[in-house]
Amino acid sequence: MIKYFQEIIEGAYTLAVGMGITFVRMFRRRVTLDYPYRSLTMTARYRGHIELKRDEATGQPKCVVCMACQKACPSNCIKLDGQKPEGAPRKVLTSYMLDFTTCSLCGLCVESCKFDALTFSHDYNLTSMRKEDYQTMDLLRRVGGAK
Ligand code: SF4
Ligand code: SF4
Repeated sequence: MIKYFQEIIEGAYTLAVGMGITFVRMFRRRVTLDYPYRSLTMTARYRGHIELKRDEATGQPKCVVCMACQKACPSNCIKLDGQKPEGAPRKVLTSYMLDFTTCSLCGLCVESCKFDALTFSHDYNLTSMRKEDYQTMDLLRRVGGAK
């Protein structure tokens, strides 16, 4: 019988402690966001997937199709191609595909680019039910602004 009342008192005590913690937290600054309606702003050094940079003057990707980033990637996850239109001074990028599922964000591709054409995006809100969406990310279709 004593054990019965002991358990009730213990239960009431732990409930009061839990409710006390909840009550105190109600008046503290929130540390979470109403995701997905609001999301965090990434810091300048955040590494999202790589992205191509755009030339402000022409609006075109800065990439000159030198292939250095593709060669530098240890995971072999960059496949790019270009063409030299007749009379043009240099090649024009026609395709830039990234396999983000094998990218380790090591940054060797960004470091290898001597034309300031590649950077890390601040994109972290990536969701998909299909793995293929990240195996073949078309970076030419999501060229970022000049940074
Ligand atoms: S960050 Fe590293 S692994 Fe990812 S694409 Fe660039 S070189 Fe390859
Ligand atoms: S290293 Fe830079 S310029 Fe060369 S192909 Fe890669 S992104 Fe383009």
